[in-house]
Parts: sequence; C-alpha cells; structure tokens
Amino acid sequence: MTRRRKTRRDFLASSAALAASAALMPRPAIAQAEPHVVVVGGGFAGASVARALKQLDPRLPVTLVEANRAFTACPFSNGVIAGLRDLSAQQFSYEKVVADGIVLAPGTANLVDTQARTLIVGDGVRLRYDRLVLAPGIDIRWDALPGYDLPAAERMPHAWKAGEQTLLLRRQLEAMEDGGLVVISAPANPFRCPPGPYERASLIAHYLKTKKPRSKLIILDAKDAFSKQRLFQNAWKELYPGLLEWVSLSMGGKVTAVEPATNTLVTDFGRHDAKVANVIPPQKAGRIAELAGVADRTGWCPIDPVTFESKLVPNIHVIGDATIAGGMPKSAFTANAQAKVCAAAVAKLLKGETPPEPKLINTCYSLVAPDYGIHVAGVYRPVNGVLTEIEGSGGVSKADAPRDVRAMEATFADSWFKTITSEVFG
Ligand SMILES: Cc1cc2nc3c(=O)[nH]c(=O)nc-3n(C[C@H](O)[C@H](O)[C@H](O)COP(=O)(O)OP(=O)(O)OC[C@H]3O[C@@H](n4cnc5c(N)ncnc54)[C@H](O)[C@@H]3O)c2cc1C
Repeated sequence: MTRRRKTRRDFLASSAALAASAALMPRPAIAQAEPHVVVVGGGFAGASVARALKQLDPRLPVTLVEANRAFTACPFSNGVIAGLRDLSAQQFSYEKVVADGIVLAPGTANLVDTQARTLIVGDGVRLRYDRLVLAPGIDIRWDALPGYDLPAAERMPHAWKAGEQTLLLRRQLEAMEDGGLVVISAPANPFRCPPGPYERASLIAHYLKTKKPRSKLIILDAKDAFSKQRLFQNAWKELYPGLLEWVSLSMGGKVTAVEPATNTLVTDFGRHDAKVANVIPPQKAGRIAELAGVADRTGWCPIDPVTFESKLVPNIHVIGDATIAGGMPKSAFTANAQAKVCAAAVAKLLKGETPPEPKLINTCYSLVAPDYGIHVAGVYRPVNGVLTEIEGSGGVSKADAPRDVRAMEATFADSWFKTITSEVFG
C-alpha cells in the first residue's frame, strides 16, 4: 500500500470530521489537565496568543476555538477587490498552529459560564478554563443603519470581513459599465482598520482609472477627519484628479439610511444612486464578547492595559479588534502585539507572578496605488489605565517624499503582510 503525504485538503477534512464527532460527544466537560487556557478566535490576535503561550510554556495546555476551517485575512483584501490579487493569497490553514501542540476545537463559541469557568462550543461541547482569551474580532451592528441588514449586504456588500463579501464587491465592480458611480460609505470611529476605507477607495480608483476611466467614486463619510488624511488627499490629487471625491461629515457625508432595492445611500443632504455601493457599517466586538459579559454599552470591551484582562469579568482576557485599547487603532499589527503582551501576562498570572508594564507598537501601511505606499506608526504604554501613544514615538510617512520612496513603502507593505502571516500561521 502506498502512503500519501497529507494535503491541506486532508487537514481541513479531518478538522471537519473532528467537528462532526465533537457534535456527537456526550455533554459533560472534556477532561483537561490544569491549568488550561482556552482561546476563542483564530485570527491575528487569537492564533498569535495561542502560539505565544505555547512558546512561553510548551507544557501548558492551550485550546483554540475557531468557527472557520481556514482563516481569511483582511489586510491586502482591498487588493483583491481591485483585481490586483486572488482571494487565495489571503487564506491560511491552522496546520502549523496545530503542529505547535495547540488543540484546535472547530466550532463557534456560544456561551461562557463565568462561575463554572466553562465555555460552550457548538451545540454543547464544554471546555473548562483557568484563563479564557477572547479574540473574536468584530461583528456588524445590524441595527445601526436603517435599511442595512443581512439581505442588504448581499446587494450592497460591506466586505469588512474578508471572504465571500470581498469577492462579491470585486464582481460588482467588474460587472459595472464604464461611466458608473461607485459609492463607499465610511463609518464614525471606532471601527476596524481606520485607514482601510481610504485605502479601498484608492485601489478602487486605481481600478477605475485603468479599466473604466469615465467612472466616478464618492466616499460618504461620517467623520470630518481620518487616518493619514493629508497623505491620502495629496495622493488622490496627484493620481486620481476628478475621479475620487471625499464628502466629510460637515459637508453632508454621513449616510443615515440605505435602500438596497435601488442601491441608494441616503444622507441628510441628498440621495446617491450608486451602480456599486460599498457600505462599511458601524461595528462592535464579536458577539461572544457580549455573551460573556465583557462588552460594555459601547459594544466594545474595556481591558486592563497591562494584562488585557477584562475590566468586567475576571479570568477573561480580550485582545484584538474587540478591545477598547485607548489610542491603539484596530489593526492586525496591534492584534498581534496585544497577543504577545497578553500571553506573557497570562503565563505570569498562572504562576502567581505580577506581569510587567508593557510597551506596544503599531505600524499600518496603506496602498494608494500598487506602487504607492504610506504608513502610520506609534508606540503605546499604559497611562492611568489607558493605552496611550508615547509622545514623539511614531508618525506618518513624509508628506513631500518622492515617488521612489512611495514605491519602496509599497514593497515594505508587501513584506509586512508576508512576515506577519508567516509568523501567525506559517
Ligand atoms: C479592508 C481591510 C484592510 C485591512 N488592512 C490592514 C492592514 O493593512 N494592516 C493591519 O494591521 N490591519 C489591517 N486591517 C485590520 C485587521 O484585519 C484587523 O484589525 C485584524 O484582523 C484584527 O484581528 P482579530 O484577531 O481581532 O480579529 P480577526 O482577525 O477578525 O479574527 C477573529 C477570528 O475569530 C473567529 N471568531 C469570532 N467569533 C467566534 C466564536 N464565537 N467562536 C469561534 N470563533 C470565532 C473568526 O472566525 C475569526 O477567525 C484591515 C481590515 C480591513 C477590513
């Protein structure tokens, strides 16, 4: 009999089989060695914290609960929308995470019994924890924008969680005739990836300029200011004059309702009938945060900035986009940095030791065109219980940098994506 090497498909199939058998398991809690750390969410924050914990203490049992069989990354997904790369370049398996000795529990975490320190996965598998780390990313606030519900998102995609929505928006742009109007609506703060809507607008503008030059793009914004604003706006003047228009909050940019039947975005000042409408709606922490009681009335999760332990429920830590992290923006870089700090703190707390005060870095690149990159960076530390940017620690790309520097920053962006995804999933 010949033996075949295991392929990615085999791995995913065995994860599915595991999920199916888990669903058939009797309901009592799975027997676990103590202490045990359970992580919910295998994205930039969750996969990073699980792997960092294993690196710090290879004997510590760590279970990672993840709803999807493979991870689809948002960074660089704007390139997929603009036809510059395939969605497969965004997808990563959990093979290497499992190879580290982390137990992958496929399924959706539905409930947390904080008294019994037990997490319920799927239709009843129970996982006991000593420390629970929640890294569920974001959910859409489906009740925040009149007219925008799940069926509306099939007509007016948000594409703010990468995957099918990303492809839907790309297909709509490809199907649009030259001369069409594309409208992006950008939400008020806070939301996932503050520069993301403007990078998306830039790359869609690049697509229109090269493929459908009679078309127009409008950004309707619920804000008067945005990340890397001067750099974006200077680049738009240079690269996309007459093609891309930004309408700020005070100029009537806030979208107050949508009408999916006609692809219409409504503001207090008028109506915009789009050929392609990309609605980036208001957001909140992933639903499990609310179910666990760690989200406050804002929908996000207050945390201790030294340990990332919830300020509302003991023994539960929250990292990544779901947190209220003071000045730190919601980015994959931030999620990875928070994961490392949280892992070090959890390892110390399990030994009864006091975690030291951390410093965390964020750097965020954006592409304004395939060969035109810009960045923002900052270093943060806890000040009076809030993660605060250290004065003078960061900044943005130089406003008057020549084009070869912009081109170099575009290659840095590409290297950053390769480095972080290979650190987290490779
Ligand atoms: C268009 C776009 C471009 C971006 N570009 C950049 C960029 O260039 N640089 C950058 O640093 N950041 C970028 N970001 C932001 C980045 O994607 C997020 O900040 C990052 O993904 C946050 O990581 P996270 O782990 O908190 O959430 P995620 O990466 O979303 O991971 C959450 C995971 O939790 C799982 N999950 C959720 N709930 C449950 C549950 N109940 N049970 C089981 N599993 C669950 C999900 O399936 C998912 O795998 C971009 C975002 C967008 C939308």
